[in-house]
Amino acid sequence: MIETKKTFCRFCHVLCGLEVDVEDNQFIAVRGDHDNPVSESYTCPKGRSESERVHHPDRLCSSLKRVDARCTGIGSEQVINEIGERLRAIIEEHGPESMAVYVGCGGHRTAPG
Ligand code: SF4
Repeated sequence: MIETKKTFCRFCHVLCGLEVDVEDNQFIAVRGDHDNPVSESYTCPKGRSESERVHHPDRLCSSLKRVDARCTGIGSEQVINEIGERLRAIIEEHGPESMAVYVGCGGHRTAPG
């Protein structure tokens, strides 16, 4: 049985509303949510390709760490701890203005709907 779920796209900061048709725990169709008061059914090609991303056989489902040019599995808690230690060391050496954050994409509502 096909169920339609309301959700949102997580590709970028815009968080466009989506309707997703699901059957046997698989996305079978993705479209913009007409009822979403912000995105008003808009989606870009990235949002509409969510099912390909989610079900792609090469999708990464866990964290990897490069060690000597090889990637090995690493737990999320270890990832957070190691990144935190590295960021803390950079701040201690260079000060807090050595950090910057980039959020989002410049493509919001510039791609064909
Ligand atoms: S603009 Fe595109 S990538 Fe960003 S949330 Fe909307 S559908 Fe997703």
